[in-house]
Amino acid sequence: MAWKTLDDMDLDGKTVLTRVDINVPVENGKVTDATRIERIVPTIKDILDKGGKPVLAAHFGRPKGQVVPDLSLRVTLDALRKALDVPVIFADPNEKPNKAWVSALEPGQVLLLENLRFNPGEEKNDPAFAAELAALASVYCNDAFSAAHRAHASTEGVAKLLPSCAGRLMQAELTALESALGQPDRPVVAVVGGAKVSTKLDLLSNLVRKVDYLVIGGGMANTFLAAEGVDVCKSLCEHDLGATALDILKAAGEVGCEIILPGDVVVAREFKAGAESEVVGVDACPADAMILDAGPKSVERITEIFGQCKTLIWNGPLGAFEIEPFDTATNAAAAKAAQLTRDGRLVSVAGGGDTVAALNKSGAADDFTYISTAGGAFLEWMEGKTLPGVAALEH
Ligand code: ADP
Ligand code: MG
Repeated sequence: MAWKTLDDMDLDGKTVLTRVDINVPVENGKVTDATRIERIVPTIKDILDKGGKPVLAAHFGRPKGQVVPDLSLRVTLDALRKALDVPVIFADPNEKPNKAWVSALEPGQVLLLENLRFNPGEEKNDPAFAAELAALASVYCNDAFSAAHRAHASTEGVAKLLPSCAGRLMQAELTALESALGQPDRPVVAVVGGAKVSTKLDLLSNLVRKVDYLVIGGGMANTFLAAEGVDVCKSLCEHDLGATALDILKAAGEVGCEIILPGDVVVAREFKAGAESEVVGVDACPADAMILDAGPKSVERITEIFGQCKTLIWNGPLGAFEIEPFDTATNAAAAKAAQLTRDGRLVSVAGGGDTVAALNKSGAADDFTYISTAGGAFLEWMEGKTLPGVAALEH
């Protein structure tokens, strides 16, 4: 790996500017889900154990360079103190970042800076703001993979000004992604599902070049089926992307990536709980019905491929999983991936907002090798793009 970790850094007595993602959901002034806060604990503990003084830098919501009192990071303090079990001091939001904050910090204490995005310099990656942040510390640690697709002062600018390393969460994420797409054990299967082809064009184009099998499911499979001349009736389908879909199929053929589209499907007249549904061949969708999930034969084919592969990377559910029974294919495929992972036969990595929700709902998520909660950054990484926050750590 081209980046350093906390193991490579001497932190004793040093202030460590630590970029974290604590952009947690809040309702009525209370954190409703502290998962993101819990996930940064190993990094903060390691910094403290090595005698360092962590200064937490983070964003919260979208204040767009203005001070928005409702978006103060103060709201996270109680949850941070509980998760870390150490004193967490909130830097006075009325002062400019200054050394006095850091010198007042006792060993074992943590300082939390106010929402970085209150300052217009953050999202503009203003060198002056990056320098202001860098002046607080002598080491920079980035633990916010989920913000690494943005070149902001706290994710990119500051990394150029201080000796830098990846935090534990960033390290885990990069290691998992590297083992899934960078240097994977082959054969590799990718599952791409979800609603639309249009949001995942770059993803599909990159994966075709990297994986041995590409399973296409969800609404986006309809676009491919329609491009091949199948009548998908009332299904979600981007008919205007037919030529693009055919280009992707052609590109796959040229590099020997096998594309798997559903052979049978679950159709219904309405997308609502309790709607009557039936399994039909992919070319037998009734005129007034829509395809909402992959059928059992398709699932059999998908799980058979999982069994032949050593690595799985997954983004996008195979069906409209929010409503039963249209979660069936996703659940069955997830269960098989979990089983193979438990047996040590498969490295399984998944990510994406709805994908994480679907895999959690299926109960299989815990058995996956790695579940990325990084959303946009995960997708851009899967698309083969350089993430500025990761690139800035590589020196
Ligand atoms: P992610 O957030 O993990 O990247 P997407 O947002 O691309 O995933 O896709 C998730 C959405 O795709 C879900 O809301 C799901 O209902 C929808 N979806 C999946 N299959 C179908 C289908 N056959 N018809 C309509 N919507 C579908
Ligand atoms: Mg989504």
